[in-house]
Amino acid sequence: MQYGTLQKQLLKWFDRHRRVMPWRALKGRTPDPYHVWLSEIMLQQTTVVTVGPYFMKFVKKWPTVEKLAKAKLDDVLAAWAGLGYYARARNLHKCAQAVMKDFGGKFPDNEDGLIKLPGIGPYTAAAVASIAFNHPAVAVDGNVERVVSRFFAIEEPLPQSKRALRARAAELAEDNPCPSDFTQGFMELGATVCTPKKPKCAACPWQKSCAAHRLGIAEELPRKTAAAQKPVRYGRVFWIEKSPKKFLIEKRAGKGLYEGLYQLPTTDWTDKAVAPGKNYDARLRFRRLDADVRHSFTHFDLVLEIWTARAGASFRPGKGKFISADELENYALPSLMHKVVKLCLGGYASTLSAAKSA
Ligand code: SF4
Repeated sequence: MQYGTLQKQLLKWFDRHRRVMPWRALKGRTPDPYHVWLSEIMLQQTTVVTVGPYFMKFVKKWPTVEKLAKAKLDDVLAAWAGLGYYARARNLHKCAQAVMKDFGGKFPDNEDGLIKLPGIGPYTAAAVASIAFNHPAVAVDGNVERVVSRFFAIEEPLPQSKRALRARAAELAEDNPCPSDFTQGFMELGATVCTPKKPKCAACPWQKSCAAHRLGIAEELPRKTAAAQKPVRYGRVFWIEKSPKKFLIEKRAGKGLYEGLYQLPTTDWTDKAVAPGKNYDARLRFRRLDADVRHSFTHFDLVLEIWTARAGASFRPGKGKFISADELENYALPSLMHKVVKLCLGGYASTLSAAKSA
């Protein structure tokens, strides 16, 4: 055990400094695999602070994997709305059903079994296997990558260094006496001490052995290859009001981004500004608001013009339904659409007469 002393130092530190989290078992208690899995799926691309209320809402609505498996997908998507990356919510639901159907409601206790389930990749399989089942697996997230790159002063930039970082993380974790606490401690160290800016080296259990600290370059690591500039896409989104205080939403058709979610009607999103006159319905008179909505996706940035119209009592849309703001929580709307709703409900819709004419 090459790193036995470091392992003991980290485990001792985690014992003292572990944060209480709704999904984390208290010291000395056995973790609930359902809670561990649910939190790991939610925490991908998102922070602990954001996930907290979502996790609580899910376990209140669906306290077991069996209950989640029996839930309607629309309800799961509605509860997920705002967390983003909606494919994860769809896979979460599929995964719960697979656990019930193929494993009698019990999550597999090792990486090989877990990775076959929908939505579980190498990282999540390792995290659940180690945290929930104390299985010797190494889960390398962004926090662990940062700690490892600094501890060994690895100069190769991310993402090229990922394989090397994983290998060095595995060396540090090899044969440790408590994989569950070691995995959580490794991540916790990155999240609370070895932070991206101003790492708190004085409070770090590995300070004496850390190469980046010794060289005075901790804050410069990990180095990163400059990201290519994202392309911009453009489109129009339509706010169609009907008395009393109702607006039109529809279920997004087709596969891909936002599949199965609700939205305000939009045009396609293209790399060119949308040509004038292509509005939702020729029966309505649209006006453009002087506020566009901007949203950043992983692979592109989006600029949406907002076009508004007031529909008469007899207007019937081709698809979709008119709802009030109070009913919004029953529908899974992505945060992009919530931005538009907020903007329009916040008064812009009532300034139609001042808006630009179509
Ligand atoms: Fe990170 Fe500093 Fe600890 Fe090194 S000593 S692992 S840079 S917090």
